[in-house]
Amino acid sequence: MNVLNQDILNKKKLLIDLRQEIYGRYGFYYYVPMAESFTVQVPVTVSCSYNKCLYCDLNANKKFRELSLDEIEANIKNLKALNDLRNNRNARFLLAGGNPFVLSSQKLLQIADMIRKYFSECDYISCFARADDILRKSDDELKILKDAGYDRLCIGLESGSDKVLNFQQKGLTRIDNLNAMRRLDDANIKYSGYIMLGLGGRDLSREHVSETASMLNLARPFELTVVTLVLFKGARLIEKVKSHEFKRLSPYETLKEGRDLLNNLNISVVWNATHKTNLFPIKGKIPEHKDLMLKRIDEVIESLSDADNLKQYELKRWQNWGVEPGAV
Ligand code: SF4
Repeated sequence: MNVLNQDILNKKKLLIDLRQEIYGRYGFYYYVPMAESFTVQVPVTVSCSYNKCLYCDLNANKKFRELSLDEIEANIKNLKALNDLRNNRNARFLLAGGNPFVLSSQKLLQIADMIRKYFSECDYISCFARADDILRKSDDELKILKDAGYDRLCIGLESGSDKVLNFQQKGLTRIDNLNAMRRLDDANIKYSGYIMLGLGGRDLSREHVSETASMLNLARPFELTVVTLVLFKGARLIEKVKSHEFKRLSPYETLKEGRDLLNNLNISVVWNATHKTNLFPIKGKIPEHKDLMLKRIDEVIESLSDADNLKQYELKRWQNWGVEPGAV
């Protein structure tokens, strides 16, 4: 092997070792907001401090833990080394973990200082947040966090219906979601919101659409990340499906639910339904592209008359995911 090839191999090994050192604590995978998937991801927490939503198994076997400031600084140093090796210049940062905004404002500010110490080019710092993580912070704290670079937060809203949120044991109400968004609006912190199609099942589908649309129409998210409920193997929702307390929507019904939600929105926002859980990926701006997106969805709905083919397609699509057999 010549010297050049050996250098390349050594560099590759160093990159793998650094990634393992930084992200190994998350196991096989960890979840990041779709809007921030190309940011520098700084581990600060492991798992979610709540971890009780019926439909979620993202952190099933992991206990929530805040990393110490020493651990976080070691991660940032390693990320700096990783970025230098790749000759990357990065201005966008994400705090990794289920809901890092649960950390105290003081710790979040210390983390922002550390990021700037190693990455002076840092433009903003994003992270996942639950509505109650936001509501626990005062207006002054939110403004200070904004000044420190916290922006483009990602809130797991999921629904605007109290019945749906309550059934799925989200631990939050419609008003919590709405108030959290308004508090961010007041602090001038931009945010995207996750909305989950199918979360109310058949019984609450109409309510899920109308309450979610009416909630969103009162706020100013810059983007909606629209995903579809997946029955994951570790989710407690499986028990409710088995006992028939929760009746899942078919992919066809989910598509229609998404269409109705889009149709009911009258705010200015990016509709991003390109997440791989969705049957038909589509993204556009409301109001500019709303009619066009509705037309495209209607065309797909019309073309989905063959239920058997649709089921085959869905099974193929999910074969690599950890879903319960027969989940589609
Ligand atoms: S959905 Fe979000 S808030 Fe609920 S348990 Fe999962 S990570 Fe935590």
